[in-house]
Amino acid sequence: MRGPGTTTMSLSAFPALVLNADYQPLSYFPLSLWNWQETIKAIFLDRVAVVQHYDRVVRSPGHEFKLPSVVALKEYIPQTRRPPFTRFNVFLRDRFTCQYCQTGLPAPELTFDHVIPRSRGGKTSWQNIVTACNRCNLRKGSRLPGECKMHPMQTPRTPSPHQLQRNGRSFPPNYLHESWRDYLYWDTELEP
Ligand SMILES: [Zn+2]
Repeated sequence: MRGPGTTTMSLSAFPALVLNADYQPLSYFPLSLWNWQETIKAIFLDRVAVVQHYDRVVRSPGHEFKLPSVVALKEYIPQTRRPPFTRFNVFLRDRFTCQYCQTGLPAPELTFDHVIPRSRGGKTSWQNIVTACNRCNLRKGSRLPGECKMHPMQTPRTPSPHQLQRNGRSFPPNYLHESWRDYLYWDTELEP
């Protein structure tokens, strides 16, 4: 964010971290971010309060303002909904880790495994789907865990929103503006 490059930096490079009304990030992974246009719109609609700014100033006729780097919603969005059963949330529950060989992998290298195979009556549900690498998924095939001695490291369950938030904290984003640090408590990231 320094040096002569800053002046030519696209405005799209100024995302705002979005906090809930309790000043916790709405989501950790993916991190809740808005682009600057969305952020400015929300300010004009009085939906958010600006918490911190970038140094970058934007001018329009009659207006001059610094781009917000952190905003907080004025109205609290409850986080108690049951997490939807999605591909992403299954990976997040399992921390992007194959539940058989315990290898952590990027999403494109992961797949799902039916603990009880579909051909044996297994359902596609939180309780029967686990994250697996392709190798383990192939190896297990249509056998039951007991038949191939492959048991998931954790018994698959429906995760709580809190559990998903907690897991998401351990995945720092590629870009982390210094003004966000006070609001993000990564397990791995913070400097002393
Ligand atoms: Zn594996």
